[in-house]
Amino acid sequence: MQRGGLREAAATLESFLTERSQGYLAGISSPTTAWEASSRLSPYLAYGTLSTRLVVQQTLRIRARADERHRAQLDGFLSRLRWRCHFTQKLEDEPELEVRNQWRGADGLRLEDEAAWPSTVRSRFDRFTHGQTGVPLVDAVVRCLRATGWVNFRMRAFVASFAAYDLWLHWRPTARFFAPHFLDFEPGIHFPQFQMQSGTTGINALRIYSPDKQLAEQDPEGAFVRRWVPELERVPLQFLARPSAMPSSVQAESGCHIGTDYPPPMVEHEAAAREARRRIELARRSEGQREARAAVFQRHGSRRPARRR
Ligand SMILES: Cc1cc2nc3c(=O)[nH]c(=O)nc-3n(C[C@H](O)[C@H](O)[C@H](O)COP(=O)(O)OP(=O)(O)OC[C@H]3O[C@@H](n4cnc5c(N)ncnc54)[C@H](O)[C@@H]3O)c2cc1C
Repeated sequence: MQRGGLREAAATLESFLTERSQGYLAGISSPTTAWEASSRLSPYLAYGTLSTRLVVQQTLRIRARADERHRAQLDGFLSRLRWRCHFTQKLEDEPELEVRNQWRGADGLRLEDEAAWPSTVRSRFDRFTHGQTGVPLVDAVVRCLRATGWVNFRMRAFVASFAAYDLWLHWRPTARFFAPHFLDFEPGIHFPQFQMQSGTTGINALRIYSPDKQLAEQDPEGAFVRRWVPELERVPLQFLARPSAMPSSVQAESGCHIGTDYPPPMVEHEAAAREARRRIELARRSEGQREARAAVFQRHGSRRPARRR
């Protein structure tokens, strides 16, 4: 876990602006490289150890004497600081976003009241929050978050999407579960982001992440998965996306027996994603939802023209 305090915060800012930011844009999507390449300033911003203003001013100072390549990296970082304000402003404008869907047309799509959950939904939630879904990258991210309080943006979006679409869980219990685990918990980013990754804003395109694709692109050697899911340490790379496909001889050789050491996958991604998309698009097309979504856009949508974005 990152350590708190002004000295740690200042050192993290300094090392990022002068060295680590050189690899920012290429390094922030993979959980193996983001550990260093991402600024790691989020806990200090969330606790107020550093102000956004100070971080912007220091960044502009370094940017003024940076070469073109480094400037592009710092610009990418500055745009994320703007997102921070954009997201926080949503909650500032409409505090109810913490407790209800931004687009009311999504109400009732998923079961929100935990007390009334049938055992099947409870079990889905419990397996997810304990990193026991049988989908290695999901389990690795959840276990990493529980242990360290941090993981990069792409992996957060990936597990939020998995919970919402593959497992069809309501974003509120999931967001509430993660809040105390995040070292950088910031309600203004957290709740609007969970809503965005769950398709309940009504104004964003649905982004459903494929576990196979994320593993192949973001952890191609399986280093992150093996680190956080040690049961899979000796599983050959070709089976790391789907350990349940290992023949029994390979299970024996790798010391990972499916069903005993590691669970089979809880869901089949393709089918679950197709069904989730169908349900949300049906809700979007139902009567009066065009106007309802336009009203959400009017209140919360980004006004920046696509070209500049
Ligand atoms: C489901 C979900 C929940 C999240 N919850 C939080 C949260 O509680 N607290 C939090 O600080 N971030 C949250 N984020 C945004 C993002 O994942 C983190 O800000 C980032 O990973 C922090 O690492 P960093 O400081 O190294 O990021 P950098 O990439 O170095 O970014 C610098 C700063 O910009 C801001 N920022 C970066 N990405 C985003 C973004 N997508 N939206 C808004 N602001 C952004 C943060 O303040 C961050 O510290 C969440 C993202 C998702 C998908």
